[in-house]
Amino acid sequence: MATLEIRDLHVSVDVEDGTKEILKGVNLTVKSGETHAIMGPNGSGKSTLAYSIAGHPKYTVTSGTVTLDGEDVLAMEIDERARAGLFLAMQYPVEVPGVTVSNFLRTAKTAVDGEAPKLRTWVKDVKGAMDNLRMDSAFAERNVNEGFSGGEKKRHEILQMELLKPQIAILDETDSGLDVDALRIVSEGVNRAKESTDVGVLLITHYTRILQYIKPDFVHVFVDGKVAEEGGPELADRLEAEGYDHYVQAAKA
Ligand code: ADP
Ligand code: MG
Ligand code: MG
Repeated sequence: MATLEIRDLHVSVDVEDGTKEILKGVNLTVKSGETHAIMGPNGSGKSTLAYSIAGHPKYTVTSGTVTLDGEDVLAMEIDERARAGLFLAMQYPVEVPGVTVSNFLRTAKTAVDGEAPKLRTWVKDVKGAMDNLRMDSAFAERNVNEGFSGGEKKRHEILQMELLKPQIAILDETDSGLDVDALRIVSEGVNRAKESTDVGVLLITHYTRILQYIKPDFVHVFVDGKVAEEGGPELADRLEAEGYDHYVQAAKA
């Protein structure tokens, strides 16, 4: 049982003429077994939230806290965050020259678990997870993210999640750039992880369509750097029908 708690989080980025506050007091709690959808218009700060939790150096936390089971996540090194059970796909570099998917996964697994996985079960686990995600075995010998299509990047993210078995996973725009078949396959991967490991999921998305496949327990509307409204799955249906506009207008007022 794990709890990720975000309290009154304020985050700024450096811009040409000083700093700009992007997150303006985010409050959110995600527990094992729960699926939370964060939905909001472009530019509302959703990715900034993910990057901030991941410890991306561009984003400065000016106040507020992020804890995992009471431990200060913001004080942890990047690799400590992963060892503590957080999965943030965006913590990894965009391209890892000369490192194959196979080696990358094994290195990541070893780092997260503190010991190398047993070779025979590991090979079987990787093959099983790749089969489930309809990934060709040749994919394992390609270099990480080198020439990956949008869909391959997303499958690679979910492959990592299935193998690393985090306690809390933050998935940013996992649905972007996927056709309907790929969206279903990727969503099934998330659902398998939810069933087999009770992972808590923070699913960041702009569109409601992924929520047809991954059912959220909670929906948070994110506008202008904070949570503007919260509800259950029915809130996603309302957003689908009404859009974000009246939240955006209310945030401006
Ligand atoms: P979302 O993911 O909701 O579309 P982002 O978190 O990507 O939103 O961006 C929120 C706002 O912060 C945008 O106005 C964006 O231009 C700005 N922003 C994000 N990252 C940076 C950065 N590294 N430098 C300058 N501005 C940034
Ligand atoms: Mg505040
Ligand atoms: Mg984004």
